Amino acid sequence: MSDRAGASTTEVLETLSAATSVTVLCHVHPDADTIGSGLALALVLERRGVPVQVSFAEPGALPESMSTLPGTHLLVTPDQVREEVDVLVTVDCGSAGRLGGLASRLAGAGTSIVIDHHRSNTRYGDLNLVDDAAEATVAVLTRLFDEWGVEIDRELAYCLYAGLVTDTGSFRWVRPGTHLLAERLLDTGIDSADIARRLLDTHPFGWLPMLSAVLGSATLVQEAVGGRGLVYAVIRRSDVGGLRSEEIESVIDIVRTTAEADVAAVFKETVSGAWSVSLRSKTDPSLPGIDVSVVAGQLGGGGHRAAAGLTSTKPLDDLIADLLAALG
Ligand code: AMP
Ligand code: MN
Ligand code: MN
Repeated sequence: MSDRAGASTTEVLETLSAATSVTVLCHVHPDADTIGSGLALALVLERRGVPVQVSFAEPGALPESMSTLPGTHLLVTPDQVREEVDVLVTVDCGSAGRLGGLASRLAGAGTSIVIDHHRSNTRYGDLNLVDDAAEATVAVLTRLFDEWGVEIDRELAYCLYAGLVTDTGSFRWVRPGTHLLAERLLDTGIDSADIARRLLDTHPFGWLPMLSAVLGSATLVQEAVGGRGLVYAVIRRSDVGGLRSEEIESVIDIVRTTAEADVAAVFKETVSGAWSVSLRSKTDPSLPGIDVSVVAGQLGGGGHRAAAGLTSTKPLDDLIADLLAALG
């Protein structure tokens, strides 16, 4: 039985257990939650003897900081992803649009399964295993593995920990159970310090002058969001030089610490000249929350209550005006 509104773990496991071939798709400009989830699932399927491919539409290469995750031998380039497959699984993708050019593969799947934790998830699969209370997609996947009887060994734990440590902001945004999951993963003997350092704490020297330029021109709009404030920074291609996505994605985590603003944004110019925007809102439980997934949704994106994003081809000034209007 498929139910587009939601699927039980049992239904998903029945489909995965009977699968004769599987494609696992991660979101464009992948982070460690989508890649960690994708590789962990693919490793489990490979061990069960199921032909499996993992891919993401763009950019052309896996972020360097994720290159040591187990299972990368199962990654294929987008053009190598078979057109037709028995089962297609998307991980950490709130909408079909997050698959980029690979969204076309949904039509060639016997059954599509969506495994995710985004509040804005559009339930675009035949089976949708979505828990928007989960701290990361790897946490949703771990519960699936437990019901499947999968033993979480060191290789799987590496992949799962990568998603957990990054999506929780190094265990800042956690809930009861998060640390129990971390403990289970650590107990396999993974080198958590090495994983965290590679994913979160390693940048080339050129990162420092880039930060200096970008943060030096950050803007505080105190009257925005009904006086609660917006702070934003702009990263143009000319600021980026040869730096990696890891350096670009790090900027929002500095900008969002601004005390005077409850909402932070970073406008990132893409190679095609469009703008990819990261939005964050304060998660202080004593404040009435601003749901940036709703704001992003109004501008064509999506995400979570405190972390969301969107992509736009509008000129920057228009986009900033649209954001200010949407924030109220
Ligand atoms: P980021 O700022 O890229 O770290 O993204 C924050 C959150 O917003 C993540 O959960 C993303 O999945 C989501 N997100 C980012 N960009 C987009 C987009 N263009 N469309 C929908 N959701 C997005
Ligand atoms: Mn993600
Ligand atoms: Mn995630």
